[in-house]
Amino acid sequence: MFYGSSEKKVFIVRHGEASLKGRNKPYFERMLIERIRKLLRGQSGVEVSREGGLVFVRTDRACQDDEIISGISKVFGVASISPAIEVEADLDAISAAASAFMRDKAEKEGARTFKVEAKRSDKSFPVQSPDIARITGANILRAVESLRVDVNRPDCLLFVNLRKGKAYIYERKIAGFGGLPLGTNGKGLILLSGGIDSPVAAFMMARRGMGIEAVHFHSYPYTGKRALEKTVALAGIVAVYCGRFDMHAVNLLPVQEQLAEKCPEGEMTVLVRRFMMRIAERIAVAAGCGALITGESLGQVASQTAEALAVTDAAAGMPVMRPLIALDKTEIIEKAQAIGTYETSILPYEDCCTVFLPKHPVTKPRLERILASESRLDVEALVAAALESKEVIPIYPGG
Ligand code: ATP
Ligand code: MG
Repeated sequence: MFYGSSEKKVFIVRHGEASLKGRNKPYFERMLIERIRKLLRGQSGVEVSREGGLVFVRTDRACQDDEIISGISKVFGVASISPAIEVEADLDAISAAASAFMRDKAEKEGARTFKVEAKRSDKSFPVQSPDIARITGANILRAVESLRVDVNRPDCLLFVNLRKGKAYIYERKIAGFGGLPLGTNGKGLILLSGGIDSPVAAFMMARRGMGIEAVHFHSYPYTGKRALEKTVALAGIVAVYCGRFDMHAVNLLPVQEQLAEKCPEGEMTVLVRRFMMRIAERIAVAAGCGALITGESLGQVASQTAEALAVTDAAAGMPVMRPLIALDKTEIIEKAQAIGTYETSILPYEDCCTVFLPKHPVTKPRLERILASESRLDVEALVAAALESKEVIPIYPGG
C-alpha cells in the first residue's frame, strides 16, 4: 500500500551508540552506511543517505518491506528501523497521507483508536509539534469516521516527523541489534567449535564492531567430515552478520596423541586448550587479528573455572575475549536461537575435545604443574606440525 508522494519506499534507520561518538561520528556513520549497502545489494534502486542524525534508505517501490527490513536489521550499529511514508512538509499533505494510512489500519486490521505524536526537527517550520499532532489527528477523525482518539492505549500510535522540506509518517519501530558498525573495532579470531557457545561469542564481538576470522580444530579421522561440515554451516550463519571470512581448519590429533601418551590424563583438557591458544595466536597474527575470542562461560564445565582459564590464557600473548563469561546457558541458548545457529549447533556430531576426554579433569590446575607436563613435549614442533596441517575454508554468508 502506498500513501505518500515519494517515488520510492523509505525506511528511517536510527543508529544507537554511533551517535555518541562525537568527532568520530561521521566515520561510524560511513561504516554503517557501507554495511547497509552491502546487505541490500540484491535489492533494486537502493539509495542510502545521511540526513541530520538519521540514515535514510530508499528503494524501488517493488521491493518487499520484509526483505529490506531483514537486511538492515542485520547491520550492527542499527538501533531501530521504521518503514515510513514520505510527503512534502505541508500539513495538508501530512493529513492526507496519515488519513489514508489510518483508513487502512481501520478497515484491514480493525484499529479503532489512535494517537498522533509529532516532532518538529526543522524548527523553521511555522507550526509547533503539539499543533501538528492536533491538526493531523483532527483531520484523521474527519476522514475516518470509525476512529476515535485514545491518548493512553491507542491501537495505533502514529508518528509524524517534520524535517527540512519533507515530513515522515510511521507507526512501527523495529528493533535492530544495536552495537557498533562492523570493522570499527579491529579484527578477532574466533575459536569456533561445533557447539552452541562459540558462534554466539563470535556474533557478540562482531556486534561490537569487531571483524571476524575463525579457526576450527578437528581430530580427523576420529572426527568425521560431517562434524567439519557442521562447523562450516555454523560459520556461514555467523557470516550473515559479519560478512565473508576465512575459517582455518587445523588437525589437532597429533597434539592430542602426544598429550595422551606423555601427560597426566586429568590435565588433558587444559593442555589441549593451551595448544589451541598457541596455534590460534599464530594464525591470528598472520591474519591481522588483534584478539582471540572463545565461548566459555564461568563454571560451565571443568575447563571453565577461573583457575583453568588463567592457565589457558598463560599460553597466549594476545587478549582473549570471552563475551559469554557471565551468561547462563539458558541465556546463551536464547541468543543462539535468535541469531539462528542453535538448530545447527545441536546436531549430534563429535567434537575434537570429546575424543580424549579425561574421566576426572582437574578443575583447579596449577600453572607450574602444567608447565612441568609440557616440558616432556616438543611444544614448538607440535605447534608447527599442526599449522602445517592447516586448510583454509572460505566462508560465505548463509553457507
Ligand atoms: P562451545 O559450545 O563453543 O563448543 P563448550 O561449552 O563446548 O563451547 P568447551 O569445549 O570448554 O566449551 O570450549 C570452550 C571454548 O573453546 C569454545 O567456546 C571454543 O571457543 C573453543 N573450542 C573448543 N573446542 C574447539 C574446537 N574444536 N575448535 C575451535 N575452538 C574450540
Ligand atoms: Mg564444545
